[in-house]
Parts: sequence; structure tokens; C-alpha cells
Amino acid sequence: MMKSSISSYKKLMEKAKNLFILESAAAIVHWDMETKMPPKAIRLRSLQLAMLSRIGHKMSTDPEIGKFLEEIMRHPEYDRLDTVQKRNVYLIKKNYDEQTKLPEELVAETAKQQAITVDTWKKAKAAKDFSMFKPELEKLVDLRKKAAEILMEVKKTATPYDALIDIFEPKMTAEAISRVFAELREGLISLIRKCKTAPKQPDTSFLKRRVPIDTQRRFAESLTEFIGYDIKSKEAGGRLDETEHPFTTGYYDDVRITTHYYEDKFDSFIFSTLHEGGHAIYEQNLNPEWIFQPVGTGCSSGFHESQSRFVENIIGRSREFWIYFLPKLKELTGGILSDVDLDRFVHSVNHVKPSKIRIEADEVTYCLHIIIRFNLERDLFADKITVTELPQIWNQSYKEYLGVSIENDSEGVMQDTHWASGLYGYFPSYALGNIYSGQILAKMKKDLPDWRRQLSKGNFHSIKQWLAKNVHSYGDLYNPADLIKKIVGEEINVKPYLNYLYEKCSKLYDF
Ligand code: ZN
Repeated sequence: MMKSSISSYKKLMEKAKNLFILESAAAIVHWDMETKMPPKAIRLRSLQLAMLSRIGHKMSTDPEIGKFLEEIMRHPEYDRLDTVQKRNVYLIKKNYDEQTKLPEELVAETAKQQAITVDTWKKAKAAKDFSMFKPELEKLVDLRKKAAEILMEVKKTATPYDALIDIFEPKMTAEAISRVFAELREGLISLIRKCKTAPKQPDTSFLKRRVPIDTQRRFAESLTEFIGYDIKSKEAGGRLDETEHPFTTGYYDDVRITTHYYEDKFDSFIFSTLHEGGHAIYEQNLNPEWIFQPVGTGCSSGFHESQSRFVENIIGRSREFWIYFLPKLKELTGGILSDVDLDRFVHSVNHVKPSKIRIEADEVTYCLHIIIRFNLERDLFADKITVTELPQIWNQSYKEYLGVSIENDSEGVMQDTHWASGLYGYFPSYALGNIYSGQILAKMKKDLPDWRRQLSKGNFHSIKQWLAKNVHSYGDLYNPADLIKKIVGEEINVKPYLNYLYEKCSKLYDF
């Protein structure tokens, strides 16, 4: 393998590096806005973010990038570039083509409409009034349809909606997702029925006991330490802060997470800290040689979610995790949980209960919330349904899939920020992540047959090493369909995830 003698490649990578540096700066400004900023700074912070975004757009559509790409791809030595170099060229070209084909006017108008729609959404949600939200949502959907039609040409996808999915899950299609989700839906609905009718039901009332926030903070620190996400040492590359909605941001040596503490809902921070921690260790385990290169990022939104859900659910809601951690939690909380035994604790944090709100959903019902959203998006972008019809179909689906009645649109179609923010095509990646996590678990079990025993002794190290080697270190070297094949030896498959859930629930619910 040669390190390219194509001088344009070196110049192209220099441009990519500058863009990564700029974007990482924007991410920290955004993090500051969400966590530490004094209230009065909002105007300045917005100006800073808008300017960084403008500079970023200018840099990524710089005509010199197009010139370098052409020189590289036409170069007689192009074939001698190695796999990583070729992937870098591919990813830069993909981004450049997409960004330059979208008219600047459309990009600007969409950004403006997004801000208006989010603002209107907040008011309409508070007023429980969809009719207030509807006209602005219609405008935003129309703008995204226009973009999707342009992107469809550039990406050569079969439908406009596929072009949007591709932003988050490259090369995935609505047709493939529909197939996978149909099987997932069937499996989940039958599992929910089994849990519901099982004789053994958990008494979850202790989860409402008040645990002081300071105690929760201390426990959160021990969780980050456990998963090897360093927020304390002199070498630390992480931070844990507090926001209303937990998130992860950052790049390589500076990856930050947030969580939220509720005094009367102490399990909330446990799973959100583990979830964001799962995202963070993915970022930190990327190949260090690939920093500032397009390959040095996570593979897709779905893969990112597979890693956060793996740590949150497969690890954090396992019996073995709590064999190790429950005594520690009890000690830290004084007498608050002294009467709660391991069985009751583990069953309660795995309680299967259909609900109205996605972000409060348990592991088994969660994907049904996603499938409902995916069906609506797919049909909306195929012009089979209209924005006006969304609430009614939403409510019907919730009744049919989850057996719950939606009382008003704030707890229904207006509950998430995604559609107000113009994020269409994003929802499926949440469920795809869960499906990947099941396949990844099945493979890990073969390589690390005693992972559960190790976990019960407080050892997460070998699991983390396995994930780093088999998932994280690939970065964005492959598209998700190829990466899952590379890791587990087969295409996307719902069965391992359903088996994992079935096995867990049958033990907890005794069926
Ligand atoms: Zn996540």
C-alpha cells in the first residue's frame, strides 16, 4: 500500500481537517449553551453558532474541494490508494455533492422555517393545539420534500424519503426497513401480550422513593468509572453535566455527556448516564490514527444508538450488572432501598408497560413507538397521507399497536421535537440500533461466553475491549449494511434482538 503520492489527496485531507476542527468548536459552543451559559449570553451564543455554521457551509462547499476530488479520481494512481484513503475520498465526495446540489436559498429558507416551527411547536404543545402547529409543520415538510427530491437525484435513491433516511443510515431504504419492522412488530406485540398476562408482575413502587440529588450524582460518577469513561483523572477526556434532555457531544479526546436527576425518579439518571456513556465510549474508541479524517467518525445514527442501547439496556438492565451494583446503591442511599431485593429491583427496571410517551418507554415497547413514526413519515413523504391526517392516524396506531388511548395531541403527535426540527428519516435509526445491538450481543456471546459472570463481578473491561475491537474501531470505514455483516457475518436480522428480549422477559415474568 502506498501513502498516496497524489498531491491533491493531501490538500483535500487538509481541508477535511479544518472542517472537523471548526465543527468540534461549534459543538463545544453548543454544549456551553445547553449547560453552563448564563441566561443573558443567549444572543451572543446564537450569533456565534450561526456564524460557525455559515463558515462550515462555505468550507464544505468550497469549489477547490470539487477540483481536488476530480484530480484524485482521474489520477492514474487512484487505484493505488488504500481502503481508508478511498473511503475518505468517497465520504468527502458524497458530502460535497449533496451540499453543493442544494440551492443556497432552500438551505437558508429551511433553517429559518425550522426555527419558526420549533418555536410554534413549543407553544402549540403547551396549548395542546395541533391546529396551531399544522401550518408551520406543513411549510417545513414541503421544504424537506423539495430537498429530498434533489437529494434523491444526487444519491440515486428510489424515493425522496430514502434520500432522507440515507442522511442518518447510509444506503438503508424504506422498503428494507418496512420488511424488518414488520417482523419486529409482530415479535414485540406477542411478547408484550405474554408479559401482560404473566402471573408474576413487579411491584415498582419503590422507584418513586426520594433519593437526594447529591447521592444520585455520586452514583452517576461510579457508573462512568465502571464503563471506563474517565471524567476525573488528569488524563480525562470526558465530562458529566446536567441538562433537561441528556445528550452526548464532542470528538475523540473531548467527549462530553449530560444527564438529568429527578429526586422522585432515581432510576432515570442511571439509564440516561449509561446510555450517553455508551455513545461516548464509541467516540473515544475510534481509531486514533483517523482523527480529522472522515473515516474517524461513528458509522451511522443507527450504529451509534446500538452502542448506547447496548450499555444502557443489555448491560445496565441485566441481572448481573445489579448483582454487582445493587449493594453499592443500597449502601450509598442509606436505608432507602433496604427492603428491595435483587429480583424485585431487576424486574422493576425491566417492567414492560405500554405507554404514550416514547422517551419513557421500556425496552420491549420502545420500538413500537418508532415503527408508528416510521410508517407515518414514509407515507407522508410518498404523498399517501397529509399533515392534517397525522394526529388521527397517530392515535389509531397507538390504540392498535400499544393499546393506549391518546387524550390530546401534546401527548400524541406533538410529543417529540424531531418533526418540528425538520428531522425526517431519523426515527428509524433508533429501532435499527436496537436490532444491531441484538446481533452484536449474539456475536459477543460466542467470543466472550462468560461475559455475564464477569459483569456480575464488576468487570466491564473485557466487554469494552471487545466492543472497541469489533465495533468502535471501524469508525466510518463501511456503510452500516456492510459493517453489520463484517461484525456478525450476516445481514440485518431481527431475530437475535427478539430472542434476547424473550429470554430476559420469560425469566423475569416467569412464562
Ligand atoms: Zn442515543
